[in-house]
Amino acid sequence: MAEYIVKENALKDFFKALTEGGKRRFLAPAEVSGKLQMIETDPEKVSLDFGNTHQSPKSAFFPQTEKLMAFHKDTAKSDPFVYKPLGLDETAPMVLFGLRPCDARGLVVCDRVFQNNRFTDPYWKSKYESAVKIGLACHDPRPACFCTAVGGSPFGEAGLDAIAFVRDGGLALKTLSAEGGEFLKGLSGLESAEIGAELAEKKQAAEAGMPGPLDQSKVAGAAVMEIYNQPHWKDTADRCLNCGTCTFVCPTCHCFDIQDEQNEKGGLRMRNWDTCMSWLYTVHGTGHNPRPTKTERMRQRFMHKLKYIPMKQDGACGCIGCGRCVTLCPVNIDIREVARQMNG
Ligand code: SF4
Ligand code: SF4
Repeated sequence: MAEYIVKENALKDFFKALTEGGKRRFLAPAEVSGKLQMIETDPEKVSLDFGNTHQSPKSAFFPQTEKLMAFHKDTAKSDPFVYKPLGLDETAPMVLFGLRPCDARGLVVCDRVFQNNRFTDPYWKSKYESAVKIGLACHDPRPACFCTAVGGSPFGEAGLDAIAFVRDGGLALKTLSAEGGEFLKGLSGLESAEIGAELAEKKQAAEAGMPGPLDQSKVAGAAVMEIYNQPHWKDTADRCLNCGTCTFVCPTCHCFDIQDEQNEKGGLRMRNWDTCMSWLYTVHGTGHNPRPTKTERMRQRFMHKLKYIPMKQDGACGCIGCGRCVTLCPVNIDIREVARQMNG
């Protein structure tokens, strides 16, 4: 593990060096139409002063719309459909600077969905495994943030190759993985330094203002149907608009739909974000819909985050406490309140 500082007057050089001379795509928090987003940007436009990006960084690895393959007909062949996968290893690897620790944990939750002992999604894998992920700790978490309530920290390290924090006169960084150490070694702008004590002090100060654990012990111990049949779901569903905002901004939501855009000669197979809040998402080819009302769809979202993902991912909560859905839900449905109701 190595520790460094970057002085303020060396920051631009450091950000440029992260691209390895243009070999890597550089993503960092930068302003787009008045909102801060984690996007591919000019190293000169990086923002270090922000609560969190408006949308989560999952779109870097799981884009809102993604071309999976092209296909066309070749009638001279016995199997007339010719498929060509798209997007695999075709673009430069990424370096992400400024991931908030909650969002890096969100990527870990998604990684277990897209890569596990039963299944590997090559589109996710090709982007995720080649990316270098450098976090930026939160000194001043926002009012809706609750990473500490779900096992995280504003200075959390999960899913990151290195973590940085802002200090007087620049940045400090600590490497966390062998890949991160190798990547940062010798980069322009870095100076070796001991930052351990400063990091511990800033971490403690940031965590001091955060909420304590969200008790989910009864949810964890209860049978699925016990939680499923609780009476509070209908009240929340009556308020919910099923707009899907909460799912699209969430760093751990990963529902998608696959559609072909084609004409008689061929076409493209596309993967698009979808949402369990949508009636169409769960309707079967037969016309039967196992989640026909808002109550079932809204319940699915919370059951998935707080019961099903913990069951499948060794107790890890499917919510990482970024607070985006709390802030952006148009009818103020708050997952912390729903979690308390589920816990009885
Ligand atoms: S953002 Fe709020 S209203 Fe919209 S689907 Fe989510 S919980 Fe329902
Ligand atoms: S459920 Fe809400 S608070 Fe939790 S990770 Fe998703 S958007 Fe963030």
